[in-house]
Amino acid sequence: MSAPARVATPPTAAIIDGRALARNMRCDIRARVVDFVSRHGVVPGLAVILVGDDPASAIYVGNKIKACEQVGIHSRTIRCDQGVTTADLLALVETLNRDPAIHGILIQLPLPAHIDMPAVLDAIDVNKDVDGFHLYNIGGLIVGSTVFSPCTPYGVLKLLEHANIPIEGQNVVVVGASNIVGKPTALMLMARDATVSICHAKTRDLAQFTILADILVVAAGVPRLIVPQMVKQGAVVIDVGINRLPDGTIIGDVDFDGVARKASHITPVPGGVGPMTVTMLLSNTVDAAARFIV
Ligand code: NAP
Repeated sequence: MSAPARVATPPTAAIIDGRALARNMRCDIRARVVDFVSRHGVVPGLAVILVGDDPASAIYVGNKIKACEQVGIHSRTIRCDQGVTTADLLALVETLNRDPAIHGILIQLPLPAHIDMPAVLDAIDVNKDVDGFHLYNIGGLIVGSTVFSPCTPYGVLKLLEHANIPIEGQNVVVVGASNIVGKPTALMLMARDATVSICHAKTRDLAQFTILADILVVAAGVPRLIVPQMVKQGAVVIDVGINRLPDGTIIGDVDFDGVARKASHITPVPGGVGPMTVTMLLSNTVDAAARFIV
């Protein structure tokens, strides 16, 4: 008698649909913009500085500009040559700081290596720092008083809130310790009273940390870094990673099919954190415009 055929365990995790949440939030943001314009006669404005001709950066900027159009935010893209100097960028930021039609300023990263990136980011008026990368806003995460929170971690938080995931007292593991994603995400979750561990490329035995996570946030930029054996049964898994495979497919840092059989909730890539990042930028820009109304 032949052995019975193995039946693959079906995915059990609820999908946290970032695309749907982003769509709903953008409807609300659009309504806020319409209301804001009718009350104050001012259209919220975002300036985006794009340096060089990196195709990925151009796509990201294009998506942000399109999203602005959809919700009625006025946007302006300023393109600079790859050879632009730090002094040129500082002067440009100063001009935008003084421009009353611009309420938010975003500098698309990465910048070329010869640019003093911290100096340029810190030149942005804190009240216009809608990406949340000014030193004041980064430092503010420590004490829980930013003007603007960085968009990707803010989006992660919104996804957890939307899925009614409790954060207080939960073991959170953040894989990835960058200044723009991993560290601010960890700080924002600590501010919600989670117990947070941060892992990075030099962490020894990553799995010994990830297996303890009630909430696992992965932002390493390594395709399929997280496999089912590394995930606790019933964990909530948020995949921030965006990786383009040689065939053009976009995947995250988590083995989605495998981990979805163990997790209670999981975000897909694409369609999870990505759409939320742009949505939080729109939200921050409308908040920024409101700060300029006396
Ligand atoms: P990054 O600056 O390259 O940082 C990656 C972090 O992951 C670093 O802290 C690195 O450790 C850590 N890391 C790398 N390999 C690892 C490994 N094998 N095990 C454990 N940790 C490892 O990248 P990022 O800007 O934070 O972005 C991370 C990912 O998120 C990328 O895929 C990016 O495309 C994506 N992303 C998505 C969005 C979105 O909207 N969905 C927004 C931003 C970024 P070290 O510090 O030790 O080097």
